[in-house]
Amino acid sequence: MKKTEVIIVGGGPAGAACAWKLSQHQVDFILLDKATFPRFKPCAGWITPQVFRDLEIDAADYPESITRFTSFQVSIKDVHFKLRTNQFAIRRFEFDAWLLQRSNPNYVNHTVKTVCFMNDHYLVDDAFSAKYIIGAGGTHCPVNQSFFINDLKEKKGSLIVAQEEEFTYDHSDDRCYLWFLQNGLPGYAWYVPKTNGFVNVGVGGSMAGLKASHDTLKRHWTLLVEKLNELGLVRNHDYHPIGHSYYLRGKAPVTRRGNAFIVGDSVGLATLDMGEGIGPAIQSGIRAAETIISGREYSVATIHKFSFPSILGLR
Ligand SMILES: Cc1cc2nc3c(=O)[nH]c(=O)nc-3n(C[C@H](O)[C@H](O)[C@H](O)COP(=O)(O)OP(=O)(O)OC[C@H]3O[C@@H](n4cnc5c(N)ncnc54)[C@H](O)[C@@H]3O)c2cc1C
Repeated sequence: MKKTEVIIVGGGPAGAACAWKLSQHQVDFILLDKATFPRFKPCAGWITPQVFRDLEIDAADYPESITRFTSFQVSIKDVHFKLRTNQFAIRRFEFDAWLLQRSNPNYVNHTVKTVCFMNDHYLVDDAFSAKYIIGAGGTHCPVNQSFFINDLKEKKGSLIVAQEEEFTYDHSDDRCYLWFLQNGLPGYAWYVPKTNGFVNVGVGGSMAGLKASHDTLKRHWTLLVEKLNELGLVRNHDYHPIGHSYYLRGKAPVTRRGNAFIVGDSVGLATLDMGEGIGPAIQSGIRAAETIISGREYSVATIHKFSFPSILGLR
């Protein structure tokens, strides 16, 4: 049995940010992830300048590929306009591995199956034991399922379903396109060109909204592919999209039971307007670590619920 102070389950942005903060304060921890890094994660990889501020790094010093957007091409139904902004896109394949490595974690490749609480300690698969446990395993986090399962229905926000693909493409249009509420989609579609010849295209929306109008995400994916072809943004590509679901911010998320904390998508913290989840995941991971370090209350109440203030340069 490996004994430590803190077990972090999941090495995505939430878990890695928590590990980073704990390691700065020499707290003994172990981070378990079922994947070996770098690993694929379905995500457009859009991040705000706040993410770099939270991670205490200048965007210019980020060592992997990064794209800066000074504007977005926005369409809301039939209204099209250029929105000035200052945003970034990274590749999750690179970003998550960099963040994890930067956190100097005691990282173990392990798929967590059972988590229980016994004799004042959390036990993971009868192999790891700790005083604190951090659930950073995303939408289906096993810590969440062990200690927070009864909170799920009332406290979670809307479920978002999304489908996307990131691939190499010799793109000639370097603008980032966002199409909101097209063809009845309760969400938006995107085209995000990235450095080193990658593009990320996808579509996401509220599961309840789609169901209510007897619609499917698959239909909106097909419409997106047609639009990309019509606009000449992507032509003759053999698509293999990947789907994933996650929760938007709920009204009163429960985030702590005893010394068990949940962070990031395990809570469901993505913003209500854009489904931005990376920034809130990082902030919650840092806050959980600060609670363990200083004993201060763990709260996600002041983590931003909307992304537009950042897009408009107001935050
Ligand atoms: C298609 C799509 C596009 C998106 N685009 C954006 C975007 O552009 N910008 C943005 O801000 N947000 C975006 N999001 C949301 C964002 O991806 C998530 O909010 C973010 O990844 C949450 O980070 P996390 O660390 O909480 O979870 P994750 O990134 O999901 O990390 C969880 C980790 O836990 C590990 N894990 C899971 N189960 C176990 C287990 N049993 N044992 C061990 N390890 C386990 C996984 O391997 C994984 O590494 C998008 C989401 C989707 C689906």
